[in-house]
Parts: sequence; C-alpha cells; structure tokens
Amino acid sequence: MIQSDRIVRTVCPYCGVGCKIDLHVKDRRVYRVTAPFAAPPNFGKLCVKGRFGHDFLWHPDRLTTPLIRREGTLQPAPWDEALDLVAARLSAIKAESGPDAIALLCSAKCTNEENYLMQKLARQVIGTHNIDHCARL
Ligand code: SF4
Repeated sequence: MIQSDRIVRTVCPYCGVGCKIDLHVKDRRVYRVTAPFAAPPNFGKLCVKGRFGHDFLWHPDRLTTPLIRREGTLQPAPWDEALDLVAARLSAIKAESGPDAIALLCSAKCTNEENYLMQKLARQVIGTHNIDHCARL
C-alpha cells in the first residue's frame, strides 16, 4: 500500500448527503479515500462512488475548459466565449419558440445554493418552469 504524505479531511463531491471523507494524498495525488468513524453524517461509511470514484481527478480525459463545436469539431474555448455563446443561443431559442422550448437540468453535485440559483435562472430570467434535478430520477 502507498504511504500517504498527508490526509485531507473534506466532503464527498458526489451527492447532497455530504459524507465526510479523508483523502490520502502522496505527491499531490489521491491514492485512497476513507471515512472518519467519528464524523457525521456517515460515521465511517461510504457508498461505492464516495469510496472509489475519485480517479477522475487526474484523468487525462477530464474536461478542464469549455468546448465549442466549430465546423463539426469540439475545440477548447475561453469561459467568457462559451458563456456568451450559451446566452446568445438561449435568447435566440426563447425569441423564436418561447421560454417553454427551453429546459434546465441541475446536478446533485452542485450545492443547494447553486441549484437554487439555477431554478431562479429558469423561472425569473428565462421564464419557464422546465427545471428538474438528477436526484429526482
Ligand atoms: S459517499 Fe455516497 S452517499 Fe456519501 S456523499 Fe458521497 S455519493 Fe453521497
């Protein structure tokens, strides 16, 4: 077993349960994830995602920048350009087909506050109640 340089206490990023996790780190890489026995809400237990689902941190296929399709090919783009493009496309769809032609899907990986803001964007800015959340599936 790899001996870690340090253990970092944090919160599992996968769902709203918010389990406490200990990241066993060596050379800035996470090699193992455990859960502290004395800490709520999980008291030493983790589901399979929390225990084993951290390979994505250093995976070479991990997306680290937005991608915009240009001439049929996805190409890296700056955040400002990607957000401007999304806003322009959503505005065009709303103008052409109405707000209910748009739907938004939130994520359990986001915080409550981020999900709250997403429904505000849907209802107050876009003008649709087409908003859902993956945790409801
Ligand atoms: S360990 Fe599982 S149940 Fe706990 S926060 Fe992570 S995904 Fe959710």
